[in-house]
Parts: sequence; C-alpha cells; structure tokens
Amino acid sequence: MSLKIYIGGKLYDKADAKISVYDHGLLYGDGVFEGIRAYAGKVFRMADHVDRLYDSAKAIHLVIPMSKAEMAEAINSTIKVNNLSDAYVRLVVTRGAGSLGLDPRRTSDPQVIIIADSISLYPAELYETGLKIVTAGTMRNHPGALNPRIKSLNYLNNILAKIEGTNAGCLEALMLNHKGEIAECTGDNIFIIKHGEVHTPSIDSGILEGITRDAVIEIARSIGLQVTERIMDRHDVYTADECFLTGTAAEVIPVVECDARPIGDGTPGPITKDLLKRFHQIAREG
Ligand code: PMP
Repeated sequence: MSLKIYIGGKLYDKADAKISVYDHGLLYGDGVFEGIRAYAGKVFRMADHVDRLYDSAKAIHLVIPMSKAEMAEAINSTIKVNNLSDAYVRLVVTRGAGSLGLDPRRTSDPQVIIIADSISLYPAELYETGLKIVTAGTMRNHPGALNPRIKSLNYLNNILAKIEGTNAGCLEALMLNHKGEIAECTGDNIFIIKHGEVHTPSIDSGILEGITRDAVIEIARSIGLQVTERIMDRHDVYTADECFLTGTAAEVIPVVECDARPIGDGTPGPITKDLLKRFHQIAREG
C-alpha cells in the first residue's frame, strides 16, 4: 500500500502528493518544519514539537491556518491511516503559492504537509561504536541574520556543513558560531561529559533548542547528574571524557572522535551509554 501524505486536510498517495512550483517554500525556502517521532504509535513530545512549529512560524510572520489541537490531530491521524507504529513524521508549513518576488503578501494559502514515514539516519552499529565528527569551516547562521532557533525551510547553512563532513568521511559535522564557540552539529545538538558532569552549549550559543536535548537534560538531572548549559569551545570537546549528539532522527548517538582526536579512550563512554538506554526506555514508554 502506498503511503498517504497529508496536504491541507486531504490525503494523497505518495505519487500524487504535490504542491505548486510557485510555492514560496520551494522558491525561497520560505516556510517552517518539524521532524517528529512516534514510538509504539504515540508521538514523542507532541506538544513541544507543535509549540516549536508555531513559534518558528510566528518568527517568520507565517500564520498557520489551523489550531495547535487540529495540527496534533492531523499528525496522529496521518500516522494512523498509514498503519505506522514507530514512525518519523516530517511536518512542513510553506508560505504558499504566489507570484514571483519575495514579498509574502504575494502568496496565499500556506500548505500544511505531513509525511509519516520512517528514517534511519545513521547505521545501527554506530550507536555501539560511535560517530566521528569534524568541525566545518561553514559557521552556523548568525542569530542576527537567521536565528537558528527558527526551524525554517532554509537548511543550506546546515547542508553546506554536512557536505564538508561527508567530504571528510564523517556523517556529522560540528558547527561553530560567529564567535568561534561550539554551536551544534548540522542536525543534532552536542553534549560532553567531563568529570562525571554533563555540559552542552546554551541556547544563546546560537542553536536550535532541540526537543531531544531538553529530554536528555531532564533524564540526566533525574538521575542526579549535574547539567550545565554554557559557552563551550573546541577544547572542551577535544578534552571531554565522553561526547554524544541528540536529535529526533538521531536520538542519542555517541561521538568517539572529533577533528582526528579521540574523545576519552576513543570508545562510547559509560554515561553516554546509560543516557542512550534511558532515552530509549522513556521514548518507548511515552
Ligand atoms: N539542531 C539542528 C540544526 C536540527 O536540525 C535538529 C533537528 N534535526 C536538532 C538540533 C535536534 O533537535 P530535536 O531534538 O528537536 O530533533
């Protein structure tokens, strides 16, 4: 059975799920999105994702043509109609079709698109052996230009850094902010462990406030770990005892090397493994 894709309240077969080439989402990357997971049929942190989507939309002056409750209902029903239980959902709201020219007033009819599918970002064995990452030369968007807190359809900043990573043989790349501080990876937030404490760049380092990041901070604190959100630099990563990344698609994945320096003993550390296990348990329990 072909996947059913939600567009503006209707369901279409994957092959027929299309929007206008005049949509400013395509022409200018003018729109917002979310990546969401469901475990055993239940969406993980639905309210947080829906809130972040509406916040991103507000920041770009985009009025989403439905309520948050209707959006949550549309996400749930798209998962259900596709008979999915563990799913990855891509929720997109475009500015809508209009005439050529940047002005959003030239558009009408923002398109709400919900794709419920699956995703496998990294090979399963990397969750055991850990990822190698490199620092990208491409800096993370300056918050005064396009704030990384907005999850917009403009992902070229991240894609350029991702290409640098893959060219260097790494599946993720570390991005620095305009001050040379650690921001985040191209699609994941970063954490380190030093002397048994957890550290992660603060939101004002110019990052997306990851929902997995928030969940992992809560889990870590709930088991008595000290978590500090602060300004960090590459020295902190190079000299960390452990390092891991978080993201909806990635979940929690160990990092064992950065810029050709082994992190800790070059294998996933015990706190990382424990947090990974606990995250899985919590995600599956809802
Ligand atoms: N940073 C960036 C740039 C991202 O695109 C994402 C999501 N893919 C994340 C961090 C992680 O956020 P979340 O845990 O909400 O998926």
